[in-house]
Amino acid sequence: MAKLRGIAARIIDLNTGFSPIKWRAVSFVVLVCASLVAVQAWLTWRARDIQLHETTIATANLAQAVAQHAYDTVKETDTILVGLVERMETDGRKPSQLERIHRLLIKRVGELPQLHGLFVYDRDGGWLVNSQPTMAKGQNNADREYFAYHRSHAERGPHIGPPIRSKSTGDWIVTVSRRIDAADGSFAGVVLATIKMDYFRSFFERFMIGRSGAIFVALDNGIMLVRRPFEEKSLGRNISALPLFRDHLPRGPVGTAIITSGQDGVTRINSYRKLEQYPLVISAALSRDEILAQWRADAYLHGIGVGLLVLVLGWMGWRLVRQIELRSQTESELVLARNSLETLNRTLEKLAMQDGLTGLANRRQFDASLQEEFSRAMRNASSLALIMIDVDCFKQYNDIYGHPAGDECLRAIGKVVAGSKHRPGDITARYGGEEMAVLLPETDVAGALIVAENIRKAINKLQLRHAGNNGGVVTVSAGVEAFAPVRLDSRPLELIEAADQALYQAKAHGRNRVCGPAKQLLHAGDAAA
Ligand code: GH3
Ligand code: MG
Ligand code: MG
Repeated sequence: MAKLRGIAARIIDLNTGFSPIKWRAVSFVVLVCASLVAVQAWLTWRARDIQLHETTIATANLAQAVAQHAYDTVKETDTILVGLVERMETDGRKPSQLERIHRLLIKRVGELPQLHGLFVYDRDGGWLVNSQPTMAKGQNNADREYFAYHRSHAERGPHIGPPIRSKSTGDWIVTVSRRIDAADGSFAGVVLATIKMDYFRSFFERFMIGRSGAIFVALDNGIMLVRRPFEEKSLGRNISALPLFRDHLPRGPVGTAIITSGQDGVTRINSYRKLEQYPLVISAALSRDEILAQWRADAYLHGIGVGLLVLVLGWMGWRLVRQIELRSQTESELVLARNSLETLNRTLEKLAMQDGLTGLANRRQFDASLQEEFSRAMRNASSLALIMIDVDCFKQYNDIYGHPAGDECLRAIGKVVAGSKHRPGDITARYGGEEMAVLLPETDVAGALIVAENIRKAINKLQLRHAGNNGGVVTVSAGVEAFAPVRLDSRPLELIEAADQALYQAKAHGRNRVCGPAKQLLHAGDAAA
């Protein structure tokens, strides 16, 4: 029973409907679902980071490859120019010399695929010799940027100019040029190599950079040389004000930056690199959206998967909580049923042991108690007393006042008898009819006589009218016996018989009195006294 009560307390409090187990189950399910979502979100975010990191490495490698290609292309070209300057400065410009150089230039252009042409100009910009099979006469390139540059700059290093259209073929070209000095160090002309822009373009086309990727080579002053995707209008454009040149390159020659283009609004991961040997800047960029497209698709897929899992878990959790609720309800109902059953049992037990009219213990209870107290008295060698009470001339009472009045009278007398109980061990019972008994453990005859006399007096004091009785009121007679039972020799019946005997004596001596054992005290009734 204690266990059941414990379960009830643990499982549910019916007044508030609060069940710790239910809320623990709800919390558990919520926690599992939240953890699942959190772990998935973390994994997804991590996958994004990894994807971006890998892309950064890929763009850095791409920029490195493009930079190496640009360097090699310019370096090979410039090596030819260095030799050409040397020849022009030492061999002189006789027609036979120029003729030999002409053949050499044609040969070199044939050897290097990037070369569009090789040119030598005199100090006024006139064409001295070039790689064209038949040289046009009377042409002048003094208006070109590279020519003006070398004429006004004494440096002997290579100069890379902005992209231009070739005067001879109309193709887009990139120029690399060097200055020729006269013996006195004055300006004596320019050697020029033109590189086909298509050479760069076809190299750029080999890379998979998606639809929004971009690769370019620009001069370090921000002039665009060549770009993929190819747009004619972007060639020669000054991009020095763009974030790459303005913000990132000043921090270092190599790096990676995420930049949103002001032109197309695309956010790209840019890896850039500035060449040490030549004034060139290379950039390779991949669109962040394109890179993350696959990741996004995976994230959606996993998100849907986790969402479904959470739904299933939530549904199962809900079912679990419902089961717990039902179980709690059933168990609490069980406890309630058990409690009321116990109360009912106790009531039935009480009713079974109680006299219906007076509320005193009934005969069954009296017999059981007598047996029990008798045994206890025997064990303890203590005195057990019994008072037998009988209403005087009760037959007449019934005759005169009727049976219901008789019942009422018995109820009143029962109350007095019940009130005589002073110790928890005392038992007051309706012995039968209008006879009542009081069992007093650990009480001797003298004590019992006092109790009996008090009862008698108290009933007298009720002053219940009884025309058929001496003195005109209801009175009782009582017989008292008490002894310490001896093993084997004594039986409960002896006590009853002895008390009955004393009661008989009381009746015989005129009623309304208490009598003890034959040789003991005899209490005279009020009337007799
Ligand atoms: P006495 O004991 O003084 O010798 O005379 P008495 O008239 O009381 O004699 P007796 O004990 O023989 O009579 C008992 C009467 O008590 C018989 C019966 O009518 C009445 N009686 C017994 N039980 C009940 C009861 O439950 N209710 C009522 N109203 N009367 C009862
Ligand atoms: Mg009687
Ligand atoms: Mg009687």
